Amino acid sequence: MGRKRRKAQTRQCDGCTACCDGWVRIDVPGYEAWPGHPCPYSTGSGCADYDNRPEFPCRRFVCGWLLPDSPLPEWMKPDKARVMVLFNQLQWQGLPVDVALPVGKRIPPRALRWLQQFAEQHGRPLIWTECIEENGQLQKDQLVYAWGPPAFQQQVQLWQQQGVQLW
Ligand code: SF4
Ligand code: SF4
Repeated sequence: MGRKRRKAQTRQCDGCTACCDGWVRIDVPGYEAWPGHPCPYSTGSGCADYDNRPEFPCRRFVCGWLLPDSPLPEWMKPDKARVMVLFNQLQWQGLPVDVALPVGKRIPPRALRWLQQFAEQHGRPLIWTECIEENGQLQKDQLVYAWGPPAFQQQVQLWQQQGVQLW
């Protein structure tokens, strides 16, 4: 998170703090971050305590854009495209299920279209979410959408009823 770099790669977090800012639910020891509740160490462009950041989740978390050989195009960097992708987050009928989270209230249409096409071309069911706003505050719970065959959509509903953590 924050200033992370990968070996033998060109992509870097470089000013992105989307994961630190709670757009993916994270549990930094002693603090739970979610949309609207960033980690208290996030400066909005990095980590105020980078050298002492914990192993989990900070040093281990790698979003889909930062992965080595990520299929996501350059423009889909989370702080630019306003979407964070978690590849292979779940499995359904032997297929990898990807999850896309908004960095902001909702995923912009261009990025969502790209992800839906990618899901169809590669046979990867997709889940994406949208933030719920109440009294000007983003809520911890989010709306959940599924892109795939009807049986997959039913499965996602079931997962939600069962309280399965989707991201
Ligand atoms: S969301 Fe991805 S690119 Fe942005 S800081 Fe986190 S790991 Fe780095
Ligand atoms: S401690 Fe630093 S790297 Fe970890 S979530 Fe907070 S701001 Fe990000």
